[in-house]
Amino acid sequence: MQIDTQSNPQSKQFPSTEKQKDLSKILAEELLAMGVTDAAMDELGYVYASIPSNTDKHVPVICFCSHVDTAPDCSGTNVKPILHNNYDGKNITLPDDTTQVLSTDEFKYLKQHTGQSIITASGNTLLGADDKAGVAEIMDMANFLITNPEVKHGTIKILFTPDEEIGKGTANLDMQKLGAEFGYTLDGGELGTLEDETFSADAAEITIHGVIAHPGYAKDTLVNALKIAGEILARLPRKNFSPETTDKRKGFVHPVRVEGLAEKAIIEFIVRDFTRQGLKKNTERLQKVAEEVLQKHPKARMEFKVTEQYRNMKEVLNQHPQVAQYAEEAYKKSGLKVKKQSIRGGTDGSRLSFIGLPCPNLFTGMQAIHSKKEWIGVRDMKKAVEVIVNLVQVWEKNTP
Ligand SMILES: [Zn+2]
Repeated sequence: MQIDTQSNPQSKQFPSTEKQKDLSKILAEELLAMGVTDAAMDELGYVYASIPSNTDKHVPVICFCSHVDTAPDCSGTNVKPILHNNYDGKNITLPDDTTQVLSTDEFKYLKQHTGQSIITASGNTLLGADDKAGVAEIMDMANFLITNPEVKHGTIKILFTPDEEIGKGTANLDMQKLGAEFGYTLDGGELGTLEDETFSADAAEITIHGVIAHPGYAKDTLVNALKIAGEILARLPRKNFSPETTDKRKGFVHPVRVEGLAEKAIIEFIVRDFTRQGLKKNTERLQKVAEEVLQKHPKARMEFKVTEQYRNMKEVLNQHPQVAQYAEEAYKKSGLKVKKQSIRGGTDGSRLSFIGLPCPNLFTGMQAIHSKKEWIGVRDMKKAVEVIVNLVQVWEKNTP
């Protein structure tokens, strides 16, 4: 947690920050020290490693993946993790900034950790459990499998990626080198949750061309693109169309950036839904709103551009139902009730699923991510390790 691995969305480099490699290098070294003989970090900051099969069966090669970077939203410099042993079930005031209080009202899940150990940051930074919890759990699994050779499994690949938080975790991934058929990201939250569905996502961009004239002599000539942009934004439906008014399975349209001059203005949107039809409907509705506004300004022109961002991983996972099924079996074997969830966002897994590695997301325990109040229960972390150790055995057992 103490190694600063924050990624930077403004950077043009890959990885976006060199410091991410500080952690990746150590992970590769630790894997080598464990006896994972091919572990290495490449020049882009990806760590690849494999644990050889110890069974005669031809078990599909599966991969466990986590990201080393932490979110740009909150500082990751000088993180001071605090281990609270035997947590008393009360509110926790963080020592370095006493306005930061983890209250049991805000985080109902805290109560379930009474008497257990939890880890928090100290008040000035995030903790970085997203996704160093996943990293730690995969490392612990590797160590367990290496030291317990009687546990049967196929070939297991380990992958640590940079820059997930800025949407580029898979940008320079070498799928050939990885050589896995199916994968699991460890990047989820509460104990027992299993995420096999994400949003489908597009970006939409509206460019408005006004008509420019000297403002002193502009009567009946000038058409101000900024004012048209404002009108479009004001006419967006509020209910069932915005992130601030939707939850669960509802998608939305969300303006994220406006830029412009009187002559020309650009509005950028993100469009989200769980289905392709829903995504299309949202995009069409946005276009209709914009066209209606433009009709009132016949001298202005508009361009409407849609760019694909990512697609719901479920489309791919439905073709390989065993990937999520085996995970469910491993959860149950570990004594957990499976809580299937949909992610109102994307993960490395959604991109991995579409570049050939069907990849649901497993829980790690992380809570209140991207914030100074980020915390995690040690019990949940141990359970996550137990689950993935069971999961490799489920794959072996279910292979004829
Ligand atoms: Zn994450």
